[in-house]
Amino acid sequence: MTETLCFASQPPVTVAIQASQLRFPVHRIFCVGRNYHAHAAEMGVTVDKATTQPFYFNKHPSAIAESGAEIPYPPETSNYHFEMELVVALGAGGFQVSEAAAIDLVYGYAAGLDMTRRDLQQRAKDHAHPWDLGKDFEQAAVISPIVVKDERALLQQGAIELSVNQSMKQSSDLSLMIWSVPELISDLSRYYRLLPGDLIYTGTPEGVGPVVPGDCLRGHIEGVGQVVANIVTPAV
Ligand code: MN
Repeated sequence: MTETLCFASQPPVTVAIQASQLRFPVHRIFCVGRNYHAHAAEMGVTVDKATTQPFYFNKHPSAIAESGAEIPYPPETSNYHFEMELVVALGAGGFQVSEAAAIDLVYGYAAGLDMTRRDLQQRAKDHAHPWDLGKDFEQAAVISPIVVKDERALLQQGAIELSVNQSMKQSSDLSLMIWSVPELISDLSRYYRLLPGDLIYTGTPEGVGPVVPGDCLRGHIEGVGQVVANIVTPAV
């Protein structure tokens, strides 16, 4: 029996795959909180890997914006920030996955922007509230086409950079991640039964900052590619 919906459902969220006609269907979006020491420091925090675990927040798949999109400056903020990040795209599921087996879950990688209403995130921190208003909103998860990983290819190093209007703002290296891609997949799979279509934004290096309408963001990750976003004035 075919079920009948009371109104049309929203279309599934999908992402382009580099050099392919196929599209990647997005299931969930996990984001890692603090994964570079220099970014943690600029947020006023130190991270001791020996005594802390990574932490996560989520964005709804409807927050996806593909590279090249025009992104209206979002409502209720006056401090809208970029965070340039490596995104891991899972093509297989797993639960309680070992670090050694984690690579088998990886479908590919993308360059992403974890766009953030920093003032709302700070307000949430101040009140010990959830971060959702600061992190999970329309077009807050910008993503490049996914590059399918080569056999066994694990991204352990490579330049990660972001410029605003051709002025370099972030410049770091994936080797400076506190928790590596296999460590993150293994850790996350303790809490969730990971599934194909899950995306993991792996955290940003230092140099985050605000943007305004008219700004063009260009991020690049060595071996992965480029992500572009144009911030525009919202229609009233
Ligand atoms: Mn982030």
